[in-house]
Amino acid sequence: MRDDNTTQAARDFIREVVHGDLSRGHHDAIVTRFPPEPNGYLHIGHAKSICLNFGIAGEFAGKCHLRFDDTNPVKEEHEFIDAIKEDVRWLGFDWGLNAHYASDYFERLYEWAEHLIRAGLAYVDDLSADEIRIFRGTLTEPGRNSPYRTRPVEENLDLFRRMRKGEFADGTRVLRAKIDMESGNINLRDPVLYRILHEPHPRSGDSWCVYPTYDFAHGQSDAIEGITHSLCTLEFEDHRPLYDWLIKHLPVPSQPQQYEFSRLNLSHTVLSKRVLVQLVRDGRVNGWDDPRMPTLRGLRRRGVPAAAIRDFVGRLAITKTDGTVEMALLEHCVRELLNKTAERRMAILRPLKVIIDNYPEGSGELLEAINNPEDENAGSRPITFSREIFIEREDFMESPPKKFFRLAPGREVRLRYAYFIRCVGTVKDATGQVVALQCTYDPETRGGISPPDGRKVKATLHWVSSQDAVSGEVRCYDHLFSRPDPGADGDIMEDLNPHSLESLRNCLLEPVLAESPVGQPVQFERQGYFCLDRDSLPGRPVFNRTVGLRDTWARLQAKQQA
Ligand code: ATP
Ligand code: MG
Repeated sequence: MRDDNTTQAARDFIREVVHGDLSRGHHDAIVTRFPPEPNGYLHIGHAKSICLNFGIAGEFAGKCHLRFDDTNPVKEEHEFIDAIKEDVRWLGFDWGLNAHYASDYFERLYEWAEHLIRAGLAYVDDLSADEIRIFRGTLTEPGRNSPYRTRPVEENLDLFRRMRKGEFADGTRVLRAKIDMESGNINLRDPVLYRILHEPHPRSGDSWCVYPTYDFAHGQSDAIEGITHSLCTLEFEDHRPLYDWLIKHLPVPSQPQQYEFSRLNLSHTVLSKRVLVQLVRDGRVNGWDDPRMPTLRGLRRRGVPAAAIRDFVGRLAITKTDGTVEMALLEHCVRELLNKTAERRMAILRPLKVIIDNYPEGSGELLEAINNPEDENAGSRPITFSREIFIEREDFMESPPKKFFRLAPGREVRLRYAYFIRCVGTVKDATGQVVALQCTYDPETRGGISPPDGRKVKATLHWVSSQDAVSGEVRCYDHLFSRPDPGADGDIMEDLNPHSLESLRNCLLEPVLAESPVGQPVQFERQGYFCLDRDSLPGRPVFNRTVGLRDTWARLQAKQQA
């Protein structure tokens, strides 16, 4: 039998590397980290990185740290730190005692910067940001040395210490590594290691007015924490030579290795914090947890279970080429899980009244409805049947086309768990609109069973009773962006889907739905999966549609195989 780790190793190239390192004895144990910058909320792209880092640590009996990459005080806030912790926990992962902050290493990083200066490997540059950019050259042109590159060590040390003391204004000086201005890799053309920012930091307060750049902080934080495998997305591939250069030239306590993998791109949405911030700021969505947002809080509020996200992420390829994944795959994972776990309820989104002429007036009866046909243990519940009920407006057509099998004048259908009913007439308003149906029912079909004469019907409709239905709002969501690749042809905001939210305010719900716990998924029969939103008020439930029932992903797969 293959051992468990061998099986895991076969899943992707990173697990293969980890397995190899452990079996060769290169490491006794592995340590990974998930390193968010606390400048926004986590999105489903981050979930790929979280599941990879925590997943690998779990599978190979290692550890995974949560490290806040908090080196830029301008955009970072405490609020985000707390929210990120909550979201990672919600997703199902635990960092134990290992929540760390790059800001805790500021003193050590500063000492290492002086170490580089003393070794002649870093210098203080007085060029402006614009000049630095011009001197850096381009992909096709080599860069040029700064006139300050040859400053003596003592002068560099003096200036850098005075930078720290706060003697200079923002942007007047930076510390740069002295590597190679002609390198084919622009990241090696004397990258900036420290910049002056007179800005209080959410954690270190006013202690610092110089802050390390991502490149200087990241690898060294990895080394301090004993990270063995530093996993990041492909855009950092070109930074790896710098990562290695710094590790090589600094007296760091361990030798982490960086590996890059493909980031998640998802169709019909964006996974860029910059754009997500803009959507919130411009009021295009109702906050970070708007159920249309690809943020973990948005997905959670919409009713997507953490387990469905883990399942989805587990199906993604961990490779060296970026691609885009269909939103339909995520929806498929959600349906597959909720089909097993969500209890069924009946709810009418666009009600049409039905009066059952031959049902005794004023009376009602209780019928039994199964909670989840996929789960015997879910049991059943009583539902009220009465003379006046509501069905879905779209389940009736006065002049039905050929393939419409639901209710129409003269036609008989089954009401789920109740009776067969036949449409014998319509009630219309002054404009000729059908406002109610007159029907008769067959008492011999109680529970929805076929009558003794063996009559068949072609449709089963869901319904609610006017005696106890609760009125509520249902928010139906569609893709946030109309096209699969928003922004590909210009302004991304132009591609927002104007119909991404349809709010139905006159829905009628089975009474138990009013007592649903917030966020707990239920299936509305024949409609999809929904959950109660926190906007609900007593007696006024609000539901979010998590996902409809139609599985475009499964259909697509079936078509491809055919
Ligand atoms: P953005 O580019 O949207 O600002 P970011 O990548 O800068 O996001 P970080 O907080 O730095 O956000 O990300 C934390 C970790 O999550 C990083 O290791 C990053 O590579 C990873 N990550 C971010 N977006 C994705 C994605 N779409 N797919 C996979 N991993 C991602
Ligand atoms: Mg980043």
